[in-house]
Amino acid sequence: MIRPTPEADQDVLSGLLTEAAQSSIQFQKTLHERSVAAPNRTAPPVSLGEDGVGAQEALSLFEQHIAPHLSASAGPRYLGYVTGGVTPAALMGDWLASAVDQNPVNPGCSVAPLVIEQSIGMLASLFNLPFAPDAPDGTGFDGTFTSGAQGANTLAAACFRDWAGERCGTDVTEEGVAALTGLEIYCASPHITMGKSLGIVGLGRNAMRSVARVPGREAMDPQALEEALANSDALSKVVIASAGIVSTGDFEDIQSIAASCARHDAWLHVDGAFGLFARCSPHYAALAKGIEHADSITTDCHKWLNVPYDCGLFLTRHLDRLETSMRLTASYLKTDDPAPTYINRGLESSSRFRALPVWMALMAYGRSGVRDMVERSCDMAQRLGDMLSEIEGYELLAPTPLNIVLFRGTFGSGADQDDLSNALQADLMKAINATGKVFLTPGVFDGKAGMRAAFSNWKTGPDDLPLIIEALRQGREHVLKAKG
Ligand SMILES: *Cc1c(COP(=O)(O)O)cnc(C)c1O
Repeated sequence: MIRPTPEADQDVLSGLLTEAAQSSIQFQKTLHERSVAAPNRTAPPVSLGEDGVGAQEALSLFEQHIAPHLSASAGPRYLGYVTGGVTPAALMGDWLASAVDQNPVNPGCSVAPLVIEQSIGMLASLFNLPFAPDAPDGTGFDGTFTSGAQGANTLAAACFRDWAGERCGTDVTEEGVAALTGLEIYCASPHITMGKSLGIVGLGRNAMRSVARVPGREAMDPQALEEALANSDALSKVVIASAGIVSTGDFEDIQSIAASCARHDAWLHVDGAFGLFARCSPHYAALAKGIEHADSITTDCHKWLNVPYDCGLFLTRHLDRLETSMRLTASYLKTDDPAPTYINRGLESSSRFRALPVWMALMAYGRSGVRDMVERSCDMAQRLGDMLSEIEGYELLAPTPLNIVLFRGTFGSGADQDDLSNALQADLMKAINATGKVFLTPGVFDGKAGMRAAFSNWKTGPDDLPLIIEALRQGREHVLKAKG
């Protein structure tokens, strides 16, 4: 037998890629009927051989041992976390990104950096934010694609860390954080990735000071922030605001927060991983007003834009700061190319051509395509909320401002209802997810345990709602029966 080699596979590339395409099509077409969470998850029974089996047989192994046990997270009823799917144009863009195999952060040899720049410019326009390269006075936002919001929050943390360093007379990038003094960081409901980012850049996960929340909500109380900043004599103040808090989709009042930051010379970072997309729709844009005043912004494309993993975006008004914090210089990287050198803007010195799926999706569907996805998701969330109030044994735990419904199953009555309900939510969610019809993740609000349904997949439509309700009914029956 001939040993399988890349050379031999290359001779039959057309047939191989056609089969891979068929496999992808089959997966996409059956997404709505797959179990949303895979019921059986075991690693494929294989090991690394001295000789391989060739691409054709590797595809068979995928079909046999991997494909059946994947989740339908790209499908219409995966409502856990905040999870996007993949539109056809974005999928094509992602395939092509692999086929052309660029390292787009490398300068001087490809149009790819210009495609990144153009894609960031189109996203800025989509979010109604000034794009620095297009602005007559050069003020506005620019940045880079990242692995996700975690990556973007880490770039933000590096930027404001180094900004604070400069204000106290030290270069943190060169000298480390030991000499950094006088930095205070304020926030109310930061995403957990923000704490991790602060840890990564050496500021520490505990560096955040809690600002009081608006009573009955998760959002920061702007008055409390104003007082905290006014009473602080720290040399450098940073405020981390949330545009779209992950448990309920609540928004902070970014306009007031930005005004306080301006008054007290504070760096404003806004985490809008999904919430920035509110600015794509006239119905929801008011929620995200004021983000245009931020110093830095995080968002995700693999959530609501429905491009495949992984793709986040970091934007800042202080590109020079980012390019100092992330600079990577070597004589072999010198170029006279006028295109931006993204190697100086991100964590990676090599990365995937993440811009291409974004570019393809924006070309294919335009502003109205994104607006439709956003509005449809929010409409599904509203409708599910309305339906929940009509079925036995469920209640909403918080209002639904955008695309996330936070609710719980109710058990017992009177004084022990909260305790009993809290105790049974995990079992309930497990039973609901075990139906395979829907996938939910937990959420807590005001001391009450519950679960979240987050809508951000372009495929989700009205036909999915009865299936979701049916899963909720079945889950609750299961728990009641088990409880006896
Ligand atoms: C999802 C999310 C993140 C983390 O995003 P990744 O893309 O998983 O890194 C950060 N902040 C908020 C508000 C989010 O919703």
